[in-house]
Amino acid sequence: MKKQVKKVKLKSPVIVFLVIIALVSTSVFLFMQKDKPTTKEETKYPMEIEEKLKTLNHPEKAFDYFKFDFLERYLSYQELNPNLSIEDIITRVNIGLDNKYYTNTSVSPYLNTNYLLVNKYISLGENYVPDHLVDIDKDCSVNYKTVQLVSEAKDAFVNLCHKAKEDGFTIRAMSSYRSYDYQKKLYQNYVDSDGVEEADTYSARPGFSEHQTGLTVDVDNAKLSYTDFDKTNEFKWMMENAHRFGFILRYPKDKEDITGYSYESWHYRYVGVDIATYIYEHNITLDEYYVRFIENKMGKGN
Ligand SMILES: [Zn+2]
Repeated sequence: MKKQVKKVKLKSPVIVFLVIIALVSTSVFLFMQKDKPTTKEETKYPMEIEEKLKTLNHPEKAFDYFKFDFLERYLSYQELNPNLSIEDIITRVNIGLDNKYYTNTSVSPYLNTNYLLVNKYISLGENYVPDHLVDIDKDCSVNYKTVQLVSEAKDAFVNLCHKAKEDGFTIRAMSSYRSYDYQKKLYQNYVDSDGVEEADTYSARPGFSEHQTGLTVDVDNAKLSYTDFDKTNEFKWMMENAHRFGFILRYPKDKEDITGYSYESWHYRYVGVDIATYIYEHNITLDEYYVRFIENKMGKGN
């Protein structure tokens, strides 16, 4: 009896040891298998597609906004722009920049949201009037009762204007929400005097104006013309602080080839603090942010 007990005691550590060895080797085996490309993965795409993906360094693995449908377009765009990174090629083709302005257009699926994008490929449609338009407070606007923003953007702008005032600067809203019909007249006037090609560089076609979102504001400092806003200290203040209130400089210098618009130091867009901060910190445009982080990822607007 005594002997038997001893035998059992001796066996237990051996069994435990063997179990541990078995578990460890299984885990190591599974871990190694995980990193090994399986034959199935290697033959996932037809040879022809595989070759094309290889040309672009397999972007489908690195960028979740890569679209297989656009593969040919990425390749053509890369040929035309060999110095751009793969990330920029995918981003720009997704924006639609390989197509002429105002071709292949669609209406935004994100109406009445802060992450709504309007550019030369995405419009708001003829009938869109944003919800909750309100007047901008008298002390922060040029023409009280005619300058309106969506209420959340309005509150943010008034906070920005008051903080600027505290710091010794005057920032006034001179133009904000514009209706489809108003933009139509404005654009037509520009076309009549400058021609379509020239007008398109600085004015939006009706339905494609960011001012129709009710999230956009043109500002001045009450001293110089708004077109000279970048010569003012108020502009410097905006460059350092606008994002803290959820605003971005929408058409920056040196980004004309992405936004499709000439540099506008006076034109600011409300996107909310999180998006504005990301855009500020990474020095990108809303167009780029949209295709990388919003398109096909966020819930559709109402
Ligand atoms: Zn503007």
